[in-house]
Amino acid sequence: MPLPLPPDIAVLCRGWLHGNVVIIEDDDGCSLVDTGYHTGLDALRAALPGPVHAIALTHVHSDHAGCAAALSAEHGAPVYASARAGDLLRRWDRRGLWLASTGQELPRFLPREVPTDGIALGDRVFEVIETGGHATGGLSFFDPTDGLLITGDALWEDGFGILDPWVDGAHILEDARQALHNLSQVDGRILIPGHGEPFADLEGALQRAEQRLNYLARNPDRLLHQVLKNGLGFFKLMQPDADAATLWQAGMTLALAHDLDEAGASRWLADAGLRAP
Ligand SMILES: [Zn+2]
Repeated sequence: MPLPLPPDIAVLCRGWLHGNVVIIEDDDGCSLVDTGYHTGLDALRAALPGPVHAIALTHVHSDHAGCAAALSAEHGAPVYASARAGDLLRRWDRRGLWLASTGQELPRFLPREVPTDGIALGDRVFEVIETGGHATGGLSFFDPTDGLLITGDALWEDGFGILDPWVDGAHILEDARQALHNLSQVDGRILIPGHGEPFADLEGALQRAEQRLNYLARNPDRLLHQVLKNGLGFFKLMQPDADAATLWQAGMTLALAHDLDEAGASRWLADAGLRAP
């Protein structure tokens, strides 16, 4: 049975291409946490109960921030993200935004810095929790009144978003550990992750995430394999009609962005079932 949500909260849960959108309704419209990939804009518009007053972003990967530019322009709504996420966008750091290595697209926008002492969304005021690791400048949002905790890709019911130290730097494994610690400090009772259905068991999720993090930290080869597999998987979701040559090219770009030489990249592509054009 799905976890019951407070009456002002709805979650648009659409799998891997689109990060979850949390719709926080109020008397004359709504505020959003995250927006999905840009190709899902029409479906998101159709799900909105009224005008959008504000958009807060857990992080600025394209599958979460994709509709921020369009919705912000249509509704005159401010977009809030962390200072570090804003810095990536201001400098248009295509590598840091995970665009250069993956072929993902992100319509450009400039966010305001999220107020670190709390952000009002709908009739709620959320505490802002730093949850880096998966994403530079990642945030979670927590409303203590009913224990509503929005975690983005820092914590899922079973695991967390991919860690890519080849792009983000070796420190992100520690950042991810710190994120789990920060989340363990709040009394989250209704959890809304960045992908997957809402769930209730924060403690169990933290335990599974910690085990996974320890495993990945001990097995960098396994981590690299996952980063590449994940990157190629997302590319296939973005471009389901891509031909073999396009897929091979995307795989090669991805592999070369992760320190593989051309021979290593070709081996990986062959293992992944892709053939050179
Ligand atoms: Zn992400």
